[in-house]
Amino acid sequence: MLVDTHCHLHLLEEPPEQVVAEARAEGVGHLVDVGIDLDSSRRAAANAARLPPVSATAGVHPHDAAALDDRALEELRALLADERVVAAGETGLDYYRDRSPRAVQRAAFAAHVRLAAELDKALVVHNREAFADVLAILRGEGAPERVVFHCFTGDRRAAERVLEAGWYLSFAGTVTFRNAPEQRAACAAVPLDRMVLETDSPFLSPHPYRGRPNHPGRVAVTAATVAAVHGVPVEQVAAATTATAARVFGLRLAGD
Ligand SMILES: [Zn+2]
Repeated sequence: MLVDTHCHLHLLEEPPEQVVAEARAEGVGHLVDVGIDLDSSRRAAANAARLPPVSATAGVHPHDAAALDDRALEELRALLADERVVAAGETGLDYYRDRSPRAVQRAAFAAHVRLAAELDKALVVHNREAFADVLAILRGEGAPERVVFHCFTGDRRAAERVLEAGWYLSFAGTVTFRNAPEQRAACAAVPLDRMVLETDSPFLSPHPYRGRPNHPGRVAVTAATVAAVHGVPVEQVAAATTATAARVFGLRLAGD
């Protein structure tokens, strides 16, 4: 069994019930439905409330950082009071697209870090070309115990810095791309008990589906690449990353 620790059900064409059923048929036993703004965070919480294989996150994406005013922050806090809403995020810094001013992104990220620490929730971090500032804010604000670098695309040295800090890395379809040998080198340095897997559906379809809409079942393709990189059977990757996901996000998996 696999866990897709990062998908966006509200952005998929099919209804959540159908996505979950198809994912389960492909061996994905649990999905974390990730909010990117208040509306999608509410919808993720509602999905988690009615679909046992789904957990939710609540957060405001760095692209939308200006929307995180005091009222929005209070609503995130209220959503996170639900035990099925397992993480704050996705949050972080995106200096590649720069859709919000960087100072506004930093303030919004810092607020998510404090909220996750205060509520003892996991934190789902989006980082693009902002690694130094992400680390500085996590350290400066007092990071929660469980921090996940979502869709990790850094090199081996960056992966080691995340590991040294005691945090976790999430690998997506990008690790399967032909032109990403440095990502596979980073993946090789990450023990399976510090790694989770994700699809970021509907984005980032793995090779050879690149460019087409992604869905949670394709986390199996990423698992196969991780198995090849680590030189272990895919069943071992599945069991270990599922256990890591359950621990990091506090998931209640079917059969528990
Ligand atoms: Zn995402």
